[in-house]
Amino acid sequence: MRTLEETRPKMDCDNCKEEVKHLKGAVLNNTFGFYCTPCLSGESRQAGAHQASEIRTSDRDAHQRDIIQPYKPDGTPNSEFISEYPDQAKDYFSQEQLEKYA
Ligand SMILES: [Zn+2]
Repeated sequence: MRTLEETRPKMDCDNCKEEVKHLKGAVLNNTFGFYCTPCLSGESRQAGAHQASEIRTSDRDAHQRDIIQPYKPDGTPNSEFISEYPDQAKDYFSQEQLEKYA
C-alpha cells in the first residue's frame, strides 16, 4: 500500500514551498499538508510573526468559546459578559463602565 509521501513527486513544503529532505504530514492553518520543520514550529519566513500570532489568537478563541470573558481582547469590558453575568460584572467594573458598555 502506497503512503501519501510516496505519491508526492517533489518534496516541497506546502506552506513555504521550500524543498527539504524531511516533511511531516500535519494540519497547519486548518489545512492538512506536508510541511517542513520550521513551518510546523512557526519559524519559517512565511509563517512569520504575524501568522503565528493569528494561530495563537484562533487557539485562544477556541478555548474561550464556552466561557464569556469579562474583558474583550482589546481590554474593554465585554458587554456580553455584563448582560450574562450582571452580578459578577459589578465586581469587575465600575458603575460608569457598566453604563457605558452594557
Ligand atoms: Zn515550510
